[in-house]
Amino acid sequence: MRGMNDPSYRTVVEDVLGKHIGKEALIVDTRFNGGGWLHDDLATFLSGKKYMTMMPREQAMGKEPMRKWSKPSVVLMSEGNYSDAHLFPVTYKAYQIGKKVGLNYIYVGNIYDPKRSATYCPQCNNLLIKRDNYQGEVVGMKNNYCLKCDYKIYGCYV
Ligand SMILES: [Zn+2]
Repeated sequence: MRGMNDPSYRTVVEDVLGKHIGKEALIVDTRFNGGGWLHDDLATFLSGKKYMTMMPREQAMGKEPMRKWSKPSVVLMSEGNYSDAHLFPVTYKAYQIGKKVGLNYIYVGNIYDPKRSATYCPQCNNLLIKRDNYQGEVVGMKNNYCLKCDYKIYGCYV
């Protein structure tokens, strides 16, 4: 998925429902996507749930929904996702469509933005590390475990 825009969406839908229709699962690679406005359309496309197989007179005619992906998927993201491409994995996770994979501890730097320069628990969203310019403070974990949900946080923190 190159951009969160109409040409990228059309390419994805054409490829997924065309040459890749027989695949068992999908990896939606959003790394380095430049953004736009497509998070809900893309999440809707990926959230198909098969509810019917059409077999009139023993003849396979397909399934419904025909125009949505209804098999497993995962979303791959990175720190290079920009704007709506950063929002889409959040939408995908909120709709519980599939798994989000990639980097868990992304934060911005060289800018004053306490919320987005912090590190949060990938499981429960608990604030783990507060940052203020070049000062960091571990606040939500102890011995590499989240204080709220006990999720193991990989890395080395002082
Ligand atoms: Zn947690």
